[in-house]
Amino acid sequence: MHHFYYAEGRLHCEGIDLDRIADEIGTPVYVYSTATFVRHANVLKEAFRGQDVLIAYSVKANGNLAVLATLAAEGCGADVVSGGEMQRALTAGIPASRIVFSGVGKTAAEMKLALEAGIHQFNVESAGELKLLSRVAAGLGLAAPVALRVNPDVAAGGHPNISTGKAGDKFGVPWTEAEALYDEAGRLPGIRVVGVDVHIGSQIGELAPMRAAFEKVVGLALRLRAQGHAITRIDVGGGLGIPYRSSDSPAPPADYAAMIAEATAGHGFEVILEPGRVIAGNAGVLLTTALYEKQAPDRTFLIVDAGMNDLMRPALYGAHHEILPLAEPAANSAYKSYDVVGPICESTDKFATGRDLPEVQPGDRLAFMSAGAYGAVLSSAYNARPLVPEVLVHGDRYSVVRRRPDFEDMIRLEEVPDWIRTKA
Ligand code: PLP
Repeated sequence: MHHFYYAEGRLHCEGIDLDRIADEIGTPVYVYSTATFVRHANVLKEAFRGQDVLIAYSVKANGNLAVLATLAAEGCGADVVSGGEMQRALTAGIPASRIVFSGVGKTAAEMKLALEAGIHQFNVESAGELKLLSRVAAGLGLAAPVALRVNPDVAAGGHPNISTGKAGDKFGVPWTEAEALYDEAGRLPGIRVVGVDVHIGSQIGELAPMRAAFEKVVGLALRLRAQGHAITRIDVGGGLGIPYRSSDSPAPPADYAAMIAEATAGHGFEVILEPGRVIAGNAGVLLTTALYEKQAPDRTFLIVDAGMNDLMRPALYGAHHEILPLAEPAANSAYKSYDVVGPICESTDKFATGRDLPEVQPGDRLAFMSAGAYGAVLSSAYNARPLVPEVLVHGDRYSVVRRRPDFEDMIRLEEVPDWIRTKA
């Protein structure tokens, strides 16, 4: 559920007419709904009531400081995959004791930062990483709380590019090597084994693959306990899918929570969740303005002012975003089929092919729905376009939470060496 809806013929976010934001801030612009973030965090909290759970919001989905601060106020922790994400989480008020650090390529500098902050857990993904973490932690006189991320060899995820739990994926420790690596971890200085971690993919609509993976992981955790490891935590990762189309019906959080309770029941584990998309996805939209209509022999292009640099998911994963006009279409509106494309000089700069929309005129505004996760975080300044701004709505107020850079901002970090002669 989200808080974007038509009222008096205009698309609103909570109490704000989105046209007002487009007028005042310009397009393209991301708009987020505080009430939707809060609702999603609370739906998860409610679903897991009675379980010992840490909801470590996956910062990679949407790492804007205001979004993180909103979720911190709801008691969320954070799942981070870089020192930068960790610093964002800490800056937004998420305590280190609620931060888990995932990712296959942690550097010694990032490990040091996280150890000194005192994070809750490192999710270690390889033997090499384990050895380096041991050295860094022992050098600081600290013990790193570690879960090994295991690869359970279970296929899942809405697209091959977001499946992470199959044997050939780069993520996690191969299933057949996990117990030997735990053995090594148990003997290494600076390492305190605390749990087992798994994350099999993203935009997973059905619970069956997750259940299969979690049951394997709980089995492993119990074997490890029998071998003398103090396994007290199961980190089940993220991955729960969201409805991008009205016809989508992914498993509801309550069923997900019940499945996890069943898989982990009776063993006294702390369960760690790393939800990203399910919290942020439907909490944001990207507003754009139609620039031109261009007729090709077999199709009509609608060229809009947002590009793949602003919202990359369609180009990256073939992802679908519903497109709604800001002006509510009349019941008898004529519809037309469009290829909706952006201004970037790449053929992949396409948001939709053959999409039926109420007829659009240049100047009309549209919203790409469900763009709150993996939207702004994946944006770039390609084609020397300013990074897309972000706005957070709260009731009948809104605030620009990342402003649009001006040209000076965009070139601030660049320098022309003095051996190149430039115009005075
Ligand atoms: N945890 C890890 C390790 C991830 O790689 C991801 C995303 O890919 C997530 C959590 C968040 O996944 P989602 O946004 O699908 O919940």
